Amino acid sequence: MRIVVPAGGIGGARFLRGLKATLGIVAGQDSDSTITVIGNTGDDITLFGLRVCPDLDTVMYTLGGGINEDQGWGRDDESFTVKEELLAYGMQPDWFGLGDRDVATHIVRSQMLAAGYPLSAVTEALCDRWRPGVRLIPMTDDQVETHVVVEEGGKRRALHFQEWWIRHRAALPALSIVGVGADEARPAPGVLEAIREADAVLLPPSNPVVSIGSILGVAGIREALEQAVVVGVSPIIGDAPVRGMADACLTAIGVETSARAVAEHYGPRLLDGWLVDEADAGAEADGIEVVSRPLYMSGPKATADIARAALDLALDLKERRG
Ligand code: GDP
Ligand code: CA
Repeated sequence: MRIVVPAGGIGGARFLRGLKATLGIVAGQDSDSTITVIGNTGDDITLFGLRVCPDLDTVMYTLGGGINEDQGWGRDDESFTVKEELLAYGMQPDWFGLGDRDVATHIVRSQMLAAGYPLSAVTEALCDRWRPGVRLIPMTDDQVETHVVVEEGGKRRALHFQEWWIRHRAALPALSIVGVGADEARPAPGVLEAIREADAVLLPPSNPVVSIGSILGVAGIREALEQAVVVGVSPIIGDAPVRGMADACLTAIGVETSARAVAEHYGPRLLDGWLVDEADAGAEADGIEVVSRPLYMSGPKATADIARAALDLALDLKERRG
């Protein structure tokens, strides 16, 4: 079975761990199932000359066993000597958590990019070490950066998404969220083929605006997904993001923070099925099959059950479509 998962960072990575478990995918062993992950690169940022891809790395570290489990991002057993030394030089920015082990990943990536390799090839090379058990492809090899337009003291300015998200904790009200470069970006090699060949596409509980939204913004990806059977897992439970600040992103694009509103935002052309939490049972969206299940990824078993439910719904819808 071939499954495609467009994913952001933490929510996407945890869901993928559950999906691997339910499909019995173990690194280094052959399996009948393949998972292709289309990773969000809208959050990518260049810091101190290093190219950092937070969502690709979160997926790679989580599935490869190198993640800091408590944080959900960054390396386990991490130290911050490089960061402290940069601060001692007065280097900015000082708000991004750049750990020493993590820096090695960014050095390898930056060096390969400088040598002319596309990000998709770089990601593949990094995954040679981590063996995530999925094929991880960035949404595009072109540069797309999510910027957030805010108003401060009567003046409008655009910040890099990371500055808004991490430095300001998404507390500056956003007027709009823009994927700079998205219009010209082309899907990375393999992305459209994987979608075309997929038995099912599963949208994990990722940020609908800055993770899934960025991926959908790359020309051709949304159109390809509209032809596939797509089932999404709501990242909103009982009108609140389970963790993080996804509500600030939804508000910025004028979408209510509810499981139903997110489904309607994606729309019936994209979504065939939608899993909502039991707290949202009864939620309906025109043209979309809504099913309720416990959706807290509270542990390996609960997460595998969510992935299984999403997959079963997708296969069921595919069969009914004929
Ligand atoms: P990020 O790049 O690290 O922000 O990760 P994602 O783009 O994958 O978005 C994470 C989203 O997943 C958050 O906005 C939450 O709304 C959602 N989320 C986190 N944990 C859970 C969970 O246990 N269950 C569900 N249903 N959603 C979750
Ligand atoms: Ca992210």
